[in-house]
This record gives sequence, structure tokens and C-alpha cells, in this order.
Amino acid sequence: MRMETKENTCKNFINNTWVDSASEEIIKSINPANKEEVVGYVQKSTAVDLEKAVQAAYKAKKNWRKLGQVERGQLLFKVANILEENLNDIAETMTREMGKSLPEAKGETARGVAILRYYAGEGMRKEGDLIPSTDQAALMFTKRTPLGVVGVITPWNFPVAIPIWKIAPALVYGNTVVFKPATEAAVTAAKVVDCFAKAGLPEGVLNFVTGTGSVIGQKLIDHPLLNAITFTGSETVGEGVAKSAAARGIKFQLEMGGKNPVIVTEDADLDAAVEAVISGAFRSTGQKCTASSRVIIESGVYDAFKEKLIQETKKITVGPGLNEGIWMGPCASESQFKTVLEYIEKGKAEGASLIYGGEPLTTGEYVKGFFVSPTIFENVTVDMTIAQEEIFGPVIALFKADNLEEAIALANNTKYGLSASIFTTNIANLLEFIDEVDAGLVRINAESAGVELQAPFGGMKASSTGSREQGEAAKEFFTSIKTVFIKG
Ligand code: NAP
Repeated sequence: MRMETKENTCKNFINNTWVDSASEEIIKSINPANKEEVVGYVQKSTAVDLEKAVQAAYKAKKNWRKLGQVERGQLLFKVANILEENLNDIAETMTREMGKSLPEAKGETARGVAILRYYAGEGMRKEGDLIPSTDQAALMFTKRTPLGVVGVITPWNFPVAIPIWKIAPALVYGNTVVFKPATEAAVTAAKVVDCFAKAGLPEGVLNFVTGTGSVIGQKLIDHPLLNAITFTGSETVGEGVAKSAAARGIKFQLEMGGKNPVIVTEDADLDAAVEAVISGAFRSTGQKCTASSRVIIESGVYDAFKEKLIQETKKITVGPGLNEGIWMGPCASESQFKTVLEYIEKGKAEGASLIYGGEPLTTGEYVKGFFVSPTIFENVTVDMTIAQEEIFGPVIALFKADNLEEAIALANNTKYGLSASIFTTNIANLLEFIDEVDAGLVRINAESAGVELQAPFGGMKASSTGSREQGEAAKEFFTSIKTVFIKG
């Protein structure tokens, strides 16, 4: 059965079948580089559809657990191969649907393949530990056990990698899943689910329902049959997830925003720092939770750094992500575009100095899309909105600091704590930074964005709640431990 109806509308995937929603309503997904192009349609599903998906996952959980970890891992290897075979098509859909450049979209899809293989390999790793007992005739060990039905809710900015880094560990550790994708990137998400569908998972193990966050997302987080929820998205929605999950005593994991700082000290390699700031701030049009959005520069190198930064920013090619040679695509949607422009206006109104960009690109080839130029502010003070709130766009604020202590205090002066980086050649500086900075991801002479898939991912303060994602850390979230004692 196909994932699309005759009008190119993606169906829901429930009980191993692509099915129509109970509702006739559909949501149009458009290309943010060309709003006249419809990328596809998804169903605006109802509570009835969601109920069927949760019931399917609930019914499937016992047999999926009993299939065993090795077999579950083998199925993920198949999914990885299918995703790899479809890499070009899925990456192109991602670029059309949410705007990131094609090389980035291909990189993200390849990352999805690698994540699947990592967790497929987990199928053959240990499920517990043997613990010595004081009773020599007894056997004592721990056994990891699945949680049951897991709800997966994801954002649009990494529509392949984020769903996979939640779904793959959830499945290999024996849970069944109900996945609600971000509406802005649901066509891409449907193609990812199709790879799981083609691998031949047992019925009800992975279920996929499109629709609005306020209906499908909310119903999912409130569902009494859910045993855990893993969410990545905004802080506002995350707060609701936490409240609902805590009220029922189920496990939850939230990955939310960032306002990630980069410190540049006087002894730093300025060329390397500029390159990393540009990549960290403007790749994916700044729409990464780990994007660099504040750059704190020691006074002695402030002018030199600023000049180089502007020089290099001028070289960025902005345009439709499918075009050859384009480095930065559009904002992912009209609402994202408007939000970014509002932040730029707020920055100006509150007294920051705009030193580069700050304009929507609305003429010539840009007229059909949601393009903004890379933007740099200076003379930003900590009380300004652009110093505190996550913009999720290609905007950076420059700060001057007299010394490292002041720089770290500035870096820590937001409610977030996801990623932070420093450029320095001084070992005392970097050790001080590692100890003092409030961030879950600490990066030395490297851009703030980009964490390898085998390492724990997550932040501090308002950026994250619950155990880390990725690598071995995912096991902590997706399983619980039974301590077994067998008396001989
Ligand atoms: P969002 O608006 O919070 O949406 C995230 C997901 O939640 C979407 O699937 C959305 O569905 C759903 N949702 C919306 N309202 C809901 C509700 N009441 N109940 C349950 N689910 C609901 O976030 P976004 O705009 O997609 O993503 C941007 C945010 O994600 C940024 O803040 C960014 O920093 C964060 N992010 C964090 C990380 C990380 O790892 N820390 C990674 C990537 C992104 P609809 O799409 O249908 O509205």
C-alpha cells in the first residue's frame, strides 16, 4: 500500500498500513524558497486517528518485547539500508519542504543512516549486568526492560535525524512508538516512516499520525496508555509536555531551545574562530538549537575579529537550497521569516547597532521565498531581547569583554544552557571555561553546533529536561532496570 493518495496526500501509518484519516481536511506543505510550489499534502488527522495509533502500539508491545533485542536490531539494519537507497530523494524532499541546502540535507539523511546502524548494533550489546551477591548460591543481575508505548514529537528543523535518533533507540530497546511529526516537515517525515514500513516491522510497532500540535500532539501527550514521551521543540510546548507527563508519573525527555555563546579570547586563532562562527550561526539559516547566536570577544581582538567576520559573511550565497553553490537557504516558513524580522526590528528599536544585513531579501530571484540576509548586531546589552531570546534565524549579537571571567559571566547570562564554545590557545582559559560555563555541550576550538552521534546530547537550565539523547545515554531513557535475584 502506498503512503500517498492520488492527490499526493501522505496518509497515516497505523498497524502497518497507510490509512486515510477520519477527517477530510488536509494541510498543504509549501516550498519556503518558492511559495507557489506545493511539496505535498498531509492529513489533518483527528483524535479518532490518534486513538487508533495508540491502541495499535499498545497491542503490539508484548510481542515486540518478546521478539528480543537481537532481532529488533536486525530490523533496524534493514531500515538503514532502505534509507540509504532513498537518500537522494529524501534529502531533496527535505530541501524543498524546509529549505536547508541540498548538501546539508544529504548530510542529515546520511546521519540518519548512521544513527540507525548505531542502534541496530545495540541489538547485539548487553541488556544488563551481573552483580556479585553475598550469597554464593545465588545469581543476581540487572535486566533492562522496555517502557511500553512511547510518544515521539519532533520539530521541523532536522526532520530526518531527530525522529530517527528517538525512534531507533525506542524500538531497539523494545518499545512501540506513536510518532507525531512537525507539520512544517511532515512530508519528509512520511518518507522516513516509509523506510521503516518497507523493512517489515511487525504490526503496530511504529505508528505515524500527522496533524496539528494542538490536537494530535496534545492528545498524544495526554493519552493514558502512553508510558513515556520524548519531545524536541520549543520551550512553551515543552512546558505543557512536562506538566502532563509529570501529572501521570510517566517518563519524559525534553530538548528545547538554546542561545548558544562563542567566546573568542585574545590568543585565539581568529581565522578559525570566524569560520566556526559563520558556520555555527548561519548554516541551516540559523535554525539549529545549537546555533551560535552570541559571540563574546575579548576587547584586544574585537575590531580585528569583527572586520574578518563581516568580510567572510559577505561571501555567503543565499538562495533556494536546491540550486548549485547555495550556502544558505530561506527561513523554513512564512511564520519563521516574520519572527526573524520581528527580532531584527526589536534589536534596532532597543538600541543595538546593526552592522551587517538585517533585511528581508524580496527582489529578483528572492521574491517567491522567505529569504533573510545573514545579520550581525553589535553594542548589544544583556537586557535586550536579542541577547536573551532564541531567534532561530541567521542573526548574531556581538559582545565585548575585558577578560575571560567577564566573558564567561556574559555567556551564562541567559536562561538556556545547551551548547557553548570557546576559541583559545591557552590551556588555563579552556579549563576554566569547561568548569564554569553553563552548557551541556562544551566545545573547544570548534563551532557550537555539531555533536557526534555516539556522544550524549542535551543541555542544562531551560534547554533540556530528563536524561540525555543519543549514544548510550538513550538507553537510560528508553528502558528501566529490573534487579533480579535468583536463589539457588
Ligand atoms: P514547536 O512549535 O514546539 O513544535 C515542536 C513539535 O511539537 C511539533 O511537532 C508541533 O506540532 C508539536 N506541538 C505543537 N503544539 C503542541 C502541543 N500543544 N502539544 C503537543 N505537541 C505540540 O517547535 P518547532 O517550531 O517545531 O521547533 C523549533 C524549536 O525546537 C526551537 O525552540 C529549537 O531550539 C527547538 N529544537 C531543539 C533541539 C534540541 O535538541 N535541543 C533540536 C531542534 C530544535 P506542529 O508542527 O503541528 O505545530
